[in-house]
Amino acid sequence: MMQTSIKTATDNAFLLSIIVPVFNEQEVLHEFYRRLTGVLDGIDAIIDIIFVNDGSTDYTLLQLQKFQANDPRISILDLSRNFGKEIAMTAGLDYVRGDAVIIIDADLQDPPELIPQMIEEWRQGFDVVYAQRRSRTGESALKKTTASLFYRIMQRISRVRIPIDTGDFRLLSRRAVDALAGLRERHRFMKGLFAWIGYPQKAILYDRDARYDGASKWNYPALWNFALEGITSFSTLPLKVATYLGTFTAFGAFLYGLFIIFQTLFFGNPVAGYPSLLVVVLFLGGIQLMALGVIGEYLGRMFDETKGRPLYLVKDYLPAVTGKKNDS
Ligand code: UDP
Ligand code: MG
Repeated sequence: MMQTSIKTATDNAFLLSIIVPVFNEQEVLHEFYRRLTGVLDGIDAIIDIIFVNDGSTDYTLLQLQKFQANDPRISILDLSRNFGKEIAMTAGLDYVRGDAVIIIDADLQDPPELIPQMIEEWRQGFDVVYAQRRSRTGESALKKTTASLFYRIMQRISRVRIPIDTGDFRLLSRRAVDALAGLRERHRFMKGLFAWIGYPQKAILYDRDARYDGASKWNYPALWNFALEGITSFSTLPLKVATYLGTFTAFGAFLYGLFIIFQTLFFGNPVAGYPSLLVVVLFLGGIQLMALGVIGEYLGRMFDETKGRPLYLVKDYLPAVTGKKNDS
């Protein structure tokens, strides 16, 4: 699997690996490839582009094979089915060998033009260089608001600092990639994992474009699950909330009980109170179910982790023919 780079004694070229997770991206691949290679051709490095085909059901794989036939820098990692972007990125990270590794979306929402700047920061010694959105166009106000709210809440409740307004577009140093390789949890909230590893990190600001073509693979239920994944992977605060809420309610009920005892003692009991009884019962029932649900979210994830299944299965790995150095 390893093919060593064809460095000569005179050049200081490094191996730059690009990871592109793709899932049904036939509409954008050509333009993406054109823009990416346009940028890469100006970089003094040995380049290796790995497309991770995440179970596409359209002509994506065919197109990738056509690219590969004409470009010896391209590898294709074909997963056995759709595993989701987080896993697809992980698979890519497992296979790349670069000294610097870049993860980029295929839909051109991550401008490849930022890559030289990322490399510059990496040369300055940063292990993780992430692109932070100054703005995002082509997305609904609702998506922007919910996304921004989510990242702000995450930042509040989690133990690691997950940078706000940041996607997966980033450069990772070799030691950052190696560190990530050691984190094998199934429920992968990659943005959290990137932050968890620590090391010197640097943000680059950019304006996020709209998707070039095709449709986003996200919908609101998927985003909700993504948010749950983020919260449960990086915070146990909801578990604590359940405890405090329970304690608080029980304490309230105790005070109310005292109140009723005194009321009965001093004013007698006129046997009303059926509505208030019902309210209290329903309220407590609701709180209990909610707390159970929270516990269930964590328990279900523990169940998944204990099964210890591999994160993904590979159908085919078509490695690059050779690492090619630009303009030499
Ligand atoms: N993607 C993937 N597997 C999936 C969904 C998406 O590999 O199950 C890829 C997709 O092809 C694209 C990137 O992940 O390159 C981002 O996907 P998308 O544009 O749908 O996400 P958004 O930009 O809306 O967050
Ligand atoms: Mg996108």
